[in-house]
Amino acid sequence: MELTRRQLLAIGGAAGAGVVIPAWLRSTIANSGPEFFPARNESLAYRKNLESFVPSVCQECTGGCMLKVRVIDGDAVGVSGHPTHPVTRGAVCPKGPASLQALYHPDRIPQPMLRVGQRGEGQWKFITWDEAIKKVAHQLQDLRHREKPHTVTVLDGSRAGLTRTLLERFAAAYGTPNYVHFNWTMGEYPVDAFRAMQDTEELAYDLTNARYVLSFGMDWLQCFPSPIEASRSYGLIRQGREGQRGRIVQIESRLSLTGGKADEWIPVNPETEGLLALGVAHVILKENRFDRGFTSSRTTGFDEWSRIVAQEYPPDRVEKATGVPQETIIRVAREFASNRPALALSERVSFFNQLAVHALNALAGNIGLPGGVLAANTPEAGTLPSFDPDPVARRGGGRPRVDGAGTTFTLASDAPQQLPENLLAKKPYPVNTLVVSNCNPLFASPNPKRWKDALAEVPSIVSFSPFMDETAAYADLIVPDHTPLESWQDAPSVTLGGERVVGMAKPAVIPVCRTRQAADVLLKVSHLLGGSVGAAFPWANFDTLLKECAQQAHASGHAKPLMLDPAEEPSDEALSIEDFWEVVTAGGGWTLPAEPQRQQTRFNFRPDFVRSPIANQKANIADSFPLRLCLFTPLAFSHADGAHLPYLNSIAGPQLDERWETWAGFNPETARSHGIANGDEVWVESPAGRVRAKARWYQGAMPGLVNMPCGLGHAAHGRWAKGVGSNPMELVEKLLDPVTGQPDWQSQRVRVYRV
Ligand code: SF4
Repeated sequence: MELTRRQLLAIGGAAGAGVVIPAWLRSTIANSGPEFFPARNESLAYRKNLESFVPSVCQECTGGCMLKVRVIDGDAVGVSGHPTHPVTRGAVCPKGPASLQALYHPDRIPQPMLRVGQRGEGQWKFITWDEAIKKVAHQLQDLRHREKPHTVTVLDGSRAGLTRTLLERFAAAYGTPNYVHFNWTMGEYPVDAFRAMQDTEELAYDLTNARYVLSFGMDWLQCFPSPIEASRSYGLIRQGREGQRGRIVQIESRLSLTGGKADEWIPVNPETEGLLALGVAHVILKENRFDRGFTSSRTTGFDEWSRIVAQEYPPDRVEKATGVPQETIIRVAREFASNRPALALSERVSFFNQLAVHALNALAGNIGLPGGVLAANTPEAGTLPSFDPDPVARRGGGRPRVDGAGTTFTLASDAPQQLPENLLAKKPYPVNTLVVSNCNPLFASPNPKRWKDALAEVPSIVSFSPFMDETAAYADLIVPDHTPLESWQDAPSVTLGGERVVGMAKPAVIPVCRTRQAADVLLKVSHLLGGSVGAAFPWANFDTLLKECAQQAHASGHAKPLMLDPAEEPSDEALSIEDFWEVVTAGGGWTLPAEPQRQQTRFNFRPDFVRSPIANQKANIADSFPLRLCLFTPLAFSHADGAHLPYLNSIAGPQLDERWETWAGFNPETARSHGIANGDEVWVESPAGRVRAKARWYQGAMPGLVNMPCGLGHAAHGRWAKGVGSNPMELVEKLLDPVTGQPDWQSQRVRVYRV
């Protein structure tokens, strides 16, 4: 259900007429509250039907798309893609317009709230911003005085940008090693392989110039760093180059949206994509089809890696493990080696699978070449001055991390899904305060109940969430952030072709509630802490920092302002810094010259990880749980988020025309053998629990699997999410990759029966 403009005005008018708090809060608030939509009422007095278009940034995924927002009399009423932004080029995916529903959502948290009942019981009282900020600062100051700054953990899911930079900087200046990035691996680049093999995460697949795209399970049209750019690349691969139609081959156990648009779908047993990649590599090596010049001069570890691949991954053995006929393996290997530039794509699955797939790119000599894997350095909006942590911060920052990144998980930079066990065990030390920003671990985690048990051991939880999601509902203090259209924003990006852009935007509208931008709250807290912490944050507020970055860009002489109107060209005349600031905030940021592809470090084949890891640790339960669970995230729910917005709920399952409920996709043969008809209500059960779903027969599912979408099944998160569908992540027992610390979503065994 979508709120109409008339309904929105009615809500605003009702607030002005004396409704002091939204209905959902009335029974849970211990004191009188503010007017809902307070600031908006002031704007209503000045209605003159004035229309304007302003830039903003979509924060619904990591794409960083710049938006063009239509504003009438202070109300945002429409959203489209920024026409000249190099990533967006006038387009947005369906999540972009949904940012309007986030802005006007009737279940937003209107101002800071302090828990008054038992944790998770839902009893709150409103407090002022002054009280909230002082409370946080006092608590943090106390921990520093007691030499315990390291017992603060910041759990943050922000994409690249200055808000994330400030949170990391705060952790370092305050004195904790525990800035933990909460990521979502489905659809993420295989950054662990990039780092291990090429010593950088800053790489991109140059799809636009590839002739052959071999994707091992990456549904790249839906979840690439920017689905917008991926879709544009798809068009170019297929029809954009004269006389050259690229070929797209999709290898996956569930036919995804990308698979449906590919030239060929090759079904493969789940989690065996790496074995298949090494089978392909075996054929390329055996038939001497690899790039000998590249492997001999610009790689390390090749001899040992190729010896192991030749010994251990012949196509007949790979066929047994993967279910892919050896004739297909041989044919794909020949196609991949002879259609250059060819790209092998993977997402952030197991370390073994990531490495195996990425090695194919080196075997074909596609590293650093157009149509291959290119360096893609995301620009910074600006350079922040260095700061000098005091001795308390240095001692605290030198303590081991609570998530085990870098110790338990040797190659991990962050391992958020290890936190619950370590919090519970108080290992390596107890955590006193958890600050949660831009993530919802009590929902988007394997067996999320683990988090609830663990958070009971944390004395204080502070949430920046603008919505009462599962994690916010379990917090002690909520300091609600603005939604993106109300915020100052920066969005640095690099296109697949290497164009660099820094998106920047003023708030598109005045805040709808009495929320505050999280970055501003962080600055205020830092200033109250004072000393070296305060000194590390010399900006009065976030827009001061953005302006300072714009000044740096202006001084560089290389920044070219973006224009919101494609008919306008940026002036050739030198702009004063004030004019530059006006132009870039009105236009949405600036572009920077592409960096030349630099010589990359030697590619490391990592022969130390080419032997297949021990088979699925849960194989011993295969008899009682005969099916395998395969989770995926539809575009509408990328990052397992979005179900609180009704528009996204309505477009969640285009392939099966499903919406507003959780479905379980079965191959018809599998469904019949379990006595399940198309449309039956079923229980899907694992040792971790059971969830209810609507059974759907799907020819694009391999036999023996149950495919379920992540995103629905909230126990909180507003009226349109709470109680709708089931959360299949509750079925997944925690199993982390021993090297990267990232969760294994695809190895869970389940059984299924009719309700
Ligand atoms: S791809 Fe879609 S969800 Fe992601 S930033 Fe762009 S518009 Fe938003």
